[in-house]
Amino acid sequence: MPGRLQNKVAIVTGAGSGIGLESSILFAQEGANVVLVDINLEAAQNAVTLIATRSPNVKVLATKADVSKEADVKAAVDLAINEFGRLDVMASFNNAGIMHPADDNALNTEEHIWDLTMQINLKGVWWGCKYAIIAMRETPTDEAKGLHRGGSIINTASFVALMGAATPQLAYTASKGGVLAMTRELAMVHAREGIRINSLCPGPLKTPLLMDFLDTEEKRQRRLVHLPMGRFGEAVELANAALFLASDESSYVTGTDFKVDGGLSSAY
Ligand code: NAD
Repeated sequence: MPGRLQNKVAIVTGAGSGIGLESSILFAQEGANVVLVDINLEAAQNAVTLIATRSPNVKVLATKADVSKEADVKAAVDLAINEFGRLDVMASFNNAGIMHPADDNALNTEEHIWDLTMQINLKGVWWGCKYAIIAMRETPTDEAKGLHRGGSIINTASFVALMGAATPQLAYTASKGGVLAMTRELAMVHAREGIRINSLCPGPLKTPLLMDFLDTEEKRQRRLVHLPMGRFGEAVELANAALFLASDESSYVTGTDFKVDGGLSSAY
């Protein structure tokens, strides 16, 4: 049985850890050739080694890029085109995120933290979308192989873009709200080109990003009280949603805020 991403080419940014890593593993498992992008090249290379063992029939590559730098993102997309001649699933799976444990509220946030957060979380998503859209417009079709025009872009936002949090992380929250707004608008502009653009909104997950932020058992327990399912999510639970959005199974889904949050955003 063909994989859900058979013959397709994917780029995953932030692929060295957490959701990006689990998504890269799943995308390859489902038949995609994948370019793994991370600012931490060693982490991306380790991921390639892992995936190559599990999915020997596809090609996976690692490349170092800082998603906040336009030239880096363009180079990653160029790499995919040069290697594979196409970019159809998810050129911009912009999964590189940062969170600052500092007192990140309106009164205390430092300007350099605000700027850095916006650069990576918001501008990085813009660069990913820009170069993905350029590449997807040129991507050749081959209906017999299930390769359609356009493509699927997935941008990672967060549940904090939908709800106010009492734990201050102002710059992070504002950047993720920007991701939702930008995704919706781009989805409308490019819908008739067959380019679907969606946001993923993860709830609190058991990944290094959040576990570093909630760095004591007491902080973790305090957060768990608010989670309807009483547990943190797993990165693979998000990756499963990313796979759906990347695949043709979601062919009528665009501009959505796809929540994978264990019910958190419905809780009172
Ligand atoms: P993670 O920390 O496990 O992995 C992030 C990866 O991004 C790392 O490999 C890191 O090296 C890479 N990275 C960081 N800055 C980069 C840059 N400038 N350029 C390229 N790569 C860079 O994170 P995660 O928990 O898997 O989170 C992934 C995404 O999900 C982020 O956008 C995050 O904001 C979002 N998110 C996470 C949670 C959570 O609870 N973990 C909740 C909501 C949203």
